[in-house]
Amino acid sequence: MVKPGSSLIHLEGVSKVFYTDEVETHALANVHLDVREGEYLAIAGPSGGGKSTLLSILGLLDSPTSGEYQLNGHAAARLTAAQRAQIRNREIGFVFQSFNLIGDLSVAENVELPLTYRKMPAAERRQRVQEALERVGMAHRLNHFPAQLSGGQQQRVAVARAIAGKPSVLLADEPTGNLDSVNGESVMALLRELHQEGATIIMVTHDPRYAEHAERTVHLFDGQIVRDERGDARAGLERHGYEMI
Ligand code: ADP
Ligand code: MG
Repeated sequence: MVKPGSSLIHLEGVSKVFYTDEVETHALANVHLDVREGEYLAIAGPSGGGKSTLLSILGLLDSPTSGEYQLNGHAAARLTAAQRAQIRNREIGFVFQSFNLIGDLSVAENVELPLTYRKMPAAERRQRVQEALERVGMAHRLNHFPAQLSGGQQQRVAVARAIAGKPSVLLADEPTGNLDSVNGESVMALLRELHQEGATIIMVTHDPRYAEHAERTVHLFDGQIVRDERGDARAGLERHGYEMI
C-alpha cells in the first residue's frame, strides 16, 4: 500500500556511473522524479540517454551510484537482497523489448513461472494465469510455445506474465521496439486499457508517437531530465495538427 500523499516512486538526485576500462560513463546525472500511483509515464529520448538504466534502477535490477530511491516510501538502499527480490517478484512487472519468454515453456507455463516463486496454491496460480491471458486476448493459446506465436502475440504473453502477479507498477522497456506498427499499436492499446483500469505504467520509448499514449512524458538526454511534460492524447493529436471534434 502507498502511504497517503506520498509518491509511489521518488527519486532524488539519482546518478549512475558505469566504470569500464578506465572509461567513466555518466548514464544518469542528478535525476529527480516522482511518479504517483495510477500514472502512465513515458520515458523518451535518444539511444544512450539513460532510459534503460533508469528503468533498471526503478525495477531494483540495479542501484544508483548516488542519490536516493524510495519505492512505496521504502528506501531501496536499505533493502536486503532478499527483500529486493521479493519486491521485484510481487510489486514490479517487467516487459522487455525482446519479450524474454522461455522457449521450452508453454504460454501458460511462462506466465505461471513468476507465481511459482511465491507460496501460492496451484489452483490460484492457474486462475491468475487464465485471467492474465484472457486480459491480453491470448487465452486460446495456453499450450502453444513462444516460437509458434507472432511477435505481437509473444509480447501480449509477456504483458500477461508481467501483470499476473498484480504488481504495483508495470515497467516496459521499448515494448514495441521489435514489433511492426499493427502489433505495436495493439500492445499500446493494451497498456492504455491496463492504465485505465488503474495500473501504474512506466514505459520507455524512443518513438514520439508512442509516448503520446502516456499522460506524461519525461525526456532523458545525456542522463538528465531535460523536459517533463504533461498532456493527454488529445493534446498529442492537436500537436500533430488534427482537428478535434
Ligand atoms: P538508453 O536505454 O537510453 O539507450 P542506456 O541506459 O542503455 O541508454 O545507456 C546509457 C549510457 O550508459 C550509454 O552510454 C551506455 O553505453 C552506458 N551503459 C549502460 N549500461 C552499461 C553497463 N552495464 N556498463 C557500461 N556502460 C553502460
Ligand atoms: Mg535502452
